[in-house]
Amino acid sequence: MAQATGTSAWLPGVPTPRLELYRRSGYMMPDTVQATRGCKRVCDFCTVPVVWPQYYRRPVGDVIKDIKAIRGRAFVFNDVSLVDDPAYARGLFTAMLPLRKKWGGLATLDIVQRPDLLDLMARSGCVYLSFGFESTNQPTLQFIHKGFNRPQDYSSVMREMHSRGISVQGCFVFGFDHDDQSVFRATVEQVLDMKVDIPRYSIYTPYPGTESATRGLADGKGVIGARQEQGGVTTTSRE
Ligand code: SF4
Repeated sequence: MAQATGTSAWLPGVPTPRLELYRRSGYMMPDTVQATRGCKRVCDFCTVPVVWPQYYRRPVGDVIKDIKAIRGRAFVFNDVSLVDDPAYARGLFTAMLPLRKKWGGLATLDIVQRPDLLDLMARSGCVYLSFGFESTNQPTLQFIHKGFNRPQDYSSVMREMHSRGISVQGCFVFGFDHDDQSVFRATVEQVLDMKVDIPRYSIYTPYPGTESATRGLADGKGVIGARQEQGGVTTTSRE
């Protein structure tokens, strides 16, 4: 099983994408930028640390060049963990200030422990963030190696975002080993209470190479089952 090493590397010299070749129709947000690749965390269901064992950062100047090439005012960072290196993120957001763009992206909830970085993020044009809350149950979060999410802080995280004009997509997962049928109502009630702008629910899926898949093989629960297309999302059930 591959694991994130937690180390960082630079990724210089990536050319600016030729956005004029892009078929723009059919995408909610066709203008995208990538500053980093990978993640320093190792959540047990996530394919990111399997695919990119290192955390890669592109030089800030290269990223700014890509952002300047976007004609519109808004874009999305594709990075799964844009703020994993706070010093890098600070440099990037500071360099973005004069560009006066609006942007969205993904981050981890512990960003609220750095209010100065969150302020800078908002000033650099951040209006939307997607967070993997995953579960409202702390033992489950510990089990999947996402104990840095603290359910008791979820509501205050939402207030911190909304007070800075940042809308939140909140991602939640059903089907963890500790879940029972009560998880559905309990999760939705907390989501409503937290005032998540765009809730998103998915099914715990043991992708090959992840710890959840390795455990599934070991305990006989299986890894790959029926693949189903549901509203554009492919889910894989255990056999
Ligand atoms: S779920 Fe998010 S925080 Fe966890 S390893 Fe994947 S990208 Fe990183």
